[in-house]
Amino acid sequence: SGKFFVGGNWKCNGTKDSIAKLVSDLNSATLEADVDVVVSPPFVYIDQVKSSLTDRIEISGQNSWVGKGGAFTAWNSSKTSAASGSFLGILKGDMSSEKRMRSFIGKKAAYALSEGLGVIACIGEKLEEREAGKTFDVCFEQMKAFADAVPSWDNVVVAYEPVWAIGTGKVASPQQAQEVHVAVRDWLKKNVSEEVASKTRIIYGGSVNGGNCAELAKQEDIDGFLVGGASLKGPEFATIVNSVT
Ligand code: 13P
Repeated sequence: SGKFFVGGNWKCNGTKDSIAKLVSDLNSATLEADVDVVVSPPFVYIDQVKSSLTDRIEISGQNSWVGKGGAFTAWNSSKTSAASGSFLGILKGDMSSEKRMRSFIGKKAAYALSEGLGVIACIGEKLEEREAGKTFDVCFEQMKAFADAVPSWDNVVVAYEPVWAIGTGKVASPQQAQEVHVAVRDWLKKNVSEEVASKTRIIYGGSVNGGNCAELAKQEDIDGFLVGGASLKGPEFATIVNSVT
C-alpha cells in the first residue's frame, strides 16, 4: 500500500571523509524510480550532505524538539531537522515502557505535521514482551499514542522496529514482520479509518541488509524499510532500495 519507502538512519556514525564517500556511492547508485528514499545523517553533517547528495534522495534529521525552537539545550526544532524541507525524520525513543515518553514522542510528531513535515513514527516490542505474547498489545498502545496526538496520517510513515532486532543481526522473519504489519494495519482500520489503513506505509526496521531484504519485501504488508547499519554502505543500501517488488 502506497509507494515503497526506504529510510537510511545513519544514527551517530560517520566522519567528514566517510560521509563524503557514502554520498558519492549513493550519487552513483542506480535506484528504482518508484521508491521514496530518505537518509538521516547526524545533524553536524546535514549541511555537508545537503550540498553534495543527489536530489533523488531526501534528507531528514533524526529527532526534534516537541515545539518551536527556543532555549532547549542540545535539541533542534522540526524546521531545522527537516534538512531538505519536507521531511522531519525518525521519531523514536523508549515508546514501550513509559506513557509519558509515548506522549512526548506523539507531541513531536503532531508539531512536525502541523509544520507541514512528514515523520517516521517508530513502534516495536522488546524481547521479553514478545516472549510474553504481548507484541500486538505493545504495538497497539504505541500506535494509540500517535493516533491520540496526530491530527492527520497523511504524512506519517509507521516503522515497525522490534527492539530485539535493532542492531543485533537478528532480523524478524518475513512471517513475523508480516504478521505485525497486518495487525497494525488492522488497528488503523478499526481505530482511525479504512482509508488511512490502506494508504499508510508500514515499513520494517531491524537488521535489514542486502541479503534479507528481498524476502521481506515480498510480504504483502511490508511497504519498505528503515535501515540502520546497512545504510552506511552505499551499494548495499541501493540493493535494499531496489528490493521493491
Ligand atoms: P539496524 O538496521 O542497524 O538494525 O537499525 C535499525 C534501526 O534502528 C533503524 O532506525
